[in-house]
Amino acid sequence: MERTLVLLKPDCLQRRLMGRVVARFEDKGLNVAAMKMMRITPELAKRHYAEHVNKAWYPQLEAFITGGPVVAMLVEGPEAICVVRAMAGATNGLKAEPGTIRGDFSCSQQMNLVHASDGPDSARREIALFFADAEIPLE
Ligand code: ADP
Ligand code: MG
Repeated sequence: MERTLVLLKPDCLQRRLMGRVVARFEDKGLNVAAMKMMRITPELAKRHYAEHVNKAWYPQLEAFITGGPVVAMLVEGPEAICVVRAMAGATNGLKAEPGTIRGDFSCSQQMNLVHASDGPDSARREIALFFADAEIPLE
């Protein structure tokens, strides 16, 4: 079993797509082990997107991700990190394959509905950023 962090980004909530996106993970057989709606502060955005803070487009990303509520979820299942990344699709909604979340619902490089951890180290790091130990079921 693996655990990964999924964020339903502000565009997902604004577009009233969160139920359909969560349903995709549940239909796949993944387990939502923890979930919360929250606002991401600029400080948390900088920690979460540490690898991107120095990019030219980071200010737009921060404005987007802090611009409305998000839903943070701990998703678990066999090879969940890889499986969830595949279900999300390529970063740019224009390039993402039909059948993926981004491919089916996004036409944007930035407003692409979901975040999904890209490997075991980032999954551990990101889960700890968004959830206290007491909010997470024991493995
Ligand atoms: P992913 O979310 O697929 O791992 P990245 O780690 O490359 O993608 O980028 C993080 C997030 O930053 C993307 O999901 C997207 O919301 C945003 N983003 C990526 N590239 C750009 C860009 N060129 N301009 C604006 N926002 C971007
Ligand atoms: Mg990434």
